Amino acid sequence: NDSMEKVDPDLKRIIDLEAARQNQKLIFIPSESAAPLAVRESLGSILQNIYAEGYPDEASRWFSQEKILDVERHLAHFSRYSDPRYYKGVEFADVIEELARRRCAEAFATPDVHADDIYVNVQPLSGAPANNAVYQALINPGDTILGMNLLHGGHLTHGSSVNRSGKLYKATHYSVDPQTEQIDYDEVERIALENKPRVIITGFSSYPWVPDWARFRQIADKVGAYLMADISHIAGMIAAGVLPSPVGFADVITFTTHKTLCGPRGACILSFKESISKKIDKAVFPGEQGGPHMQVLAAMATTFKLAREESFKNFQQQILKNCKAMSDQFEARGIRIAFGGTNTHLLNIDCKSVIGPDGTTLSGDMAARMMDLAGLVANSNAIPGDKATLRASGVRLGTPWLTQRGLLEQDMREIADIIVDLLQAAKPYTYTTGNTSVSRAKVDFKTFEDIKIRVRKI
Ligand code: PLP
Repeated sequence: NDSMEKVDPDLKRIIDLEAARQNQKLIFIPSESAAPLAVRESLGSILQNIYAEGYPDEASRWFSQEKILDVERHLAHFSRYSDPRYYKGVEFADVIEELARRRCAEAFATPDVHADDIYVNVQPLSGAPANNAVYQALINPGDTILGMNLLHGGHLTHGSSVNRSGKLYKATHYSVDPQTEQIDYDEVERIALENKPRVIITGFSSYPWVPDWARFRQIADKVGAYLMADISHIAGMIAAGVLPSPVGFADVITFTTHKTLCGPRGACILSFKESISKKIDKAVFPGEQGGPHMQVLAAMATTFKLAREESFKNFQQQILKNCKAMSDQFEARGIRIAFGGTNTHLLNIDCKSVIGPDGTTLSGDMAARMMDLAGLVANSNAIPGDKATLRASGVRLGTPWLTQRGLLEQDMREIADIIVDLLQAAKPYTYTTGNTSVSRAKVDFKTFEDIKIRVRKI
């Protein structure tokens, strides 16, 4: 059992370099966060050695955490009755999965919906398989689904033609209103009435506003569709109670645990009726996956424990305040915020306002590349008006990582100033090679060095 340093020093060096990158750069990727040590300890543990195909005892969904953690009781019960899993040797795996399910249900319970009424599946390996398992559970190939257009902030698994969800099902889409760049719910209703989807998907990757859950419920009821809320991005804020919850509105809720929840890479599916939860369990295993990753389930259990602490709530609140401060400062400096603003942890700036001497506008990709070289890590993103994700003119900026560093509103305003100074110093231009025209941008060396120094001082 030699260490990585001894067995594979080359890889160790790369991981150390990545750790330094995460420490030194200002990271704006809204789908990322730093998982705390207590979470990462499970991920590197011996739980990774085992298989535990199947699910724990169904009745344990209604056990309290104390009862689940009474391991002696569990072992006595376990030796007397057969276990519903396909593998033996899962007596502790059971406790871990039961605990993760229960703590998740408690973290997402609301004053109106008790944890006992929330069915949780913690096994999806990530967000994409979770979403596809939901479709597999609820509908048949060829059925219609309705989700947000990918170019306006939907996810690939919401019916994009390059994803299984768009190949197996008849995918239809709603978009934002071209004037307000926000969802026009009457238009969503019109599209739903026209297409009669069996599943309506709400929840987004880059659309920066919290969906109106009640209005989506109304639309789903009008056409007899299931309502699926994919809260991957905002799950942390919903668990903390600082953004409105779809619990009580959606039939099924999916989310990844590695974004604002700051947990392991994985996903959960919540449902509220036994009949639906049974179908979902079957769709995840054996429909979609094999054995659950027990090290991830243990890390989820810790994540949901942390999510109930006051410090987590304050952190999630600060993420929102930081995003708003950044957004206001961009606007004050004349940078347009796409989608008309934000009330979540992310925003999208429109880079088209930076225009070069030859009339070339700054692309999202060039902006994100310049930012990365200056120590500011973000991704380019399509915004309303863009024709393809590869020709995006937005940059998506989120505040989870920066808030984890302890940065506050005044820091965010300073960072927004640095970004604006960098973008406004850029001189976009186009050149042609063969039949292709390529967009690039130049920044004066001295200005760029000054920006790098300002980033390092944050
Ligand atoms: N759903 C939404 C809204 C997302 O933003 C993402 C990922 O970014 C996913 C699902 C997919 O998650 P994963 O990358 O873990 O498969």
